[in-house]
Amino acid sequence: MIGSASRQVLRALLLCLAASWNAAAQPFQLPTANRALFEPGQEEKFFVGTVGKPWTSGGFGCVRSEGWQMHEGLDIRCLQRDRRGEPIDPVMATADGVVVYVNTRPSLSNYGNYIVLRHQIEGLEIYSLYAHLREVRAGVKPGQVVKAGEPIAVMGRTSNTREVISRERAHVHFELNLLLNDRFAAWYKAAHPAERNDHGEWNGQNLAGIDPRKLLLAQHAEKDKFSLLSFVRNQTELCRVLVRGATFPWLKRYPQLIVPGLRAEKEGVAGYELVLNFNGLPYQLVPRAPSEMSDKSRFHLLSVNEGEQQKNPCRRLVTRKGARWELTSHGIQLLELLSY
Ligand SMILES: [Zn+2]
Repeated sequence: MIGSASRQVLRALLLCLAASWNAAAQPFQLPTANRALFEPGQEEKFFVGTVGKPWTSGGFGCVRSEGWQMHEGLDIRCLQRDRRGEPIDPVMATADGVVVYVNTRPSLSNYGNYIVLRHQIEGLEIYSLYAHLREVRAGVKPGQVVKAGEPIAVMGRTSNTREVISRERAHVHFELNLLLNDRFAAWYKAAHPAERNDHGEWNGQNLAGIDPRKLLLAQHAEKDKFSLLSFVRNQTELCRVLVRGATFPWLKRYPQLIVPGLRAEKEGVAGYELVLNFNGLPYQLVPRAPSEMSDKSRFHLLSVNEGEQQKNPCRRLVTRKGARWELTSHGIQLLELLSY
């Protein structure tokens, strides 16, 4: 019989081993054979921009509509075409993982046909998404285990947007995400009763993206020293918000992002101070004691990094009203989803 204490020690040891294994293995691979991302000055060969716009509009961030529209992934250029000029590049799993969602009804999403994979890297749950697929490989279905580099689909240009993706612009839209809330479907129904959600929790709105380009370049430069955990922990701060309540799904899913709060350790936790990046990703969470929660509102904006807000304003999470900053309806909606 093995006691629960020693079982915990064993589990910690195994997690530790798994973490060091993953860290050493450089967990992420490019999702297609296109490797121009790693060739300085060759961005045009890697990214597909929007019509008439430079390659940067195919990158992650506030890259569209003069910086006021977010693009949550990378649009990766196709290398191979069939006789009709349609893309045939295989799309591969970026890391070892499990298939969690496959949409093969392109008319139901602006992602068209898409796949979501779940990965565990350094104990952190991260989700990759591959969109506008021409076809999903036979047998790729939820629950299936996949290996990094394993073909899962063929590149395409499916989407339900009014403006179709032209043959020239055929690409895979690739995302790396953290999951906001596994109760998304219920939240969505309550928050948007008139709108459809055909994808359960695998709706793009429930996936908070991190920049795959930055991540892949960091891993390329740092080799075996790359750590996903430190990459996520070292985002640029957009703002800090105090959120009432001591339990919400993000805390359970991402305990690695919680940093010590001394007073809360002594007095108990009444809420969390969230540090958000420009995309609304809560990459640091500090537990706060009742005595630190003087404001009675559910969400209280503590500070804004004005330089970052100027640089990356497209998520419109905060706004300036006269001399002070406030959360916008977008900011509040994000926090409501997060803490639902
Ligand atoms: Zn895209």
